[in-house]
Amino acid sequence: MNDSTPVLSVVIPVYNEEDVLPQLFARLYPALDALNRPYEVLFVNDGSRDRSVAMLREQFQRRPAETRVILLQVNFGQHAAILAGFARSRGKYIITLDADLQNPPEEVGKLLAKLEEGHDYVGTWRAKRQDSWWRKTASKFVNAIRDRATPIKMADHGCMLRGYGRSVIDTINATRENVTFIPALAAIYSSNPIEIEVKHDERSAGESKYSLYRLIRLTFDLMTGFSTVPLQLFSLVGLVLSAISGLLVIYLIARRIFVGPEAEGVFTLFAIVFFLLGITLFGIGLLGEYIGRIYVQVRQRPRYIIGAVLEQTPDAPRHDGT
Ligand code: UDP
Ligand code: MG
Repeated sequence: MNDSTPVLSVVIPVYNEEDVLPQLFARLYPALDALNRPYEVLFVNDGSRDRSVAMLREQFQRRPAETRVILLQVNFGQHAAILAGFARSRGKYIITLDADLQNPPEEVGKLLAKLEEGHDYVGTWRAKRQDSWWRKTASKFVNAIRDRATPIKMADHGCMLRGYGRSVIDTINATRENVTFIPALAAIYSSNPIEIEVKHDERSAGESKYSLYRLIRLTFDLMTGFSTVPLQLFSLVGLVLSAISGLLVIYLIARRIFVGPEAEGVFTLFAIVFFLLGITLFGIGLLGEYIGRIYVQVRQRPRYIIGAVLEQTPDAPRHDGT
């Protein structure tokens, strides 16, 4: 490894973060300088429409040796942005971080220590998570489902302050999945994972980039990308419901013969029909989630498109997932 090869790559997706970037720069660089390892910070601008790009350019000029900026053409989503950063990262160890300072940059050293001990994946859970009540409750719920329905065991899949060894990153880079959930992917690929607790702060400025709708989409990405249990569960529910309906039919026929025709209970029947209709629609929707992802995958469109890269020593041309 020569001097220009960083030990540590820090990958940070940036989407309309003009309000926090100055504070991020002010805290991140001193924290990384203090680690005394050659490092690079890879900012991936995910199609911001505010002043983020201009601010990243300025920061690149201030610290050109340690800073690289990848400018994606439009908004491809947080995970695609991180993948773009991974593909260009050069460090032996890679750490991801949110731009909004919810993951304190001062915690990076803790993760690096675990990576240097030989762990190829450092997962995290957030101590005293500082998010709104409904976000925390929804996360608990999704964490519990993910724990049962997928092979991925982790305490908290939402925290993006995580560390990865080079081999895991290389495997992720070789994965040609269009829709994915990076921590879950890494958890599968690693051979010596560990989970640690990290601090968590409130977003220091700006707003969350995730609406309820985008959070639900992301949750489907996680569930459908790593498990077919939802589909199998559906067959089982269908099986049970068919059995129950079968019994109901036998009962109603017997009643018709022995008691005679009747018109009571029509609304009960309505309730049952609507309930079953709801389940059926959900099932069709669920199938759609899987099929939609298959469709996205077979089209083989690029996961992201890089508009420009700001860096001091460009890499040799490489095949990087676009
Ligand atoms: N982000 C991104 N693309 C997006 C949405 C978010 O690159 O489409 C980045 C964002 O700039 C931040 C990180 O992903 O660095 C996490 O976003 P945010 O803090 O809004 O999510 P939350 O903490 O509310 O889950
Ligand atoms: Mg955040």
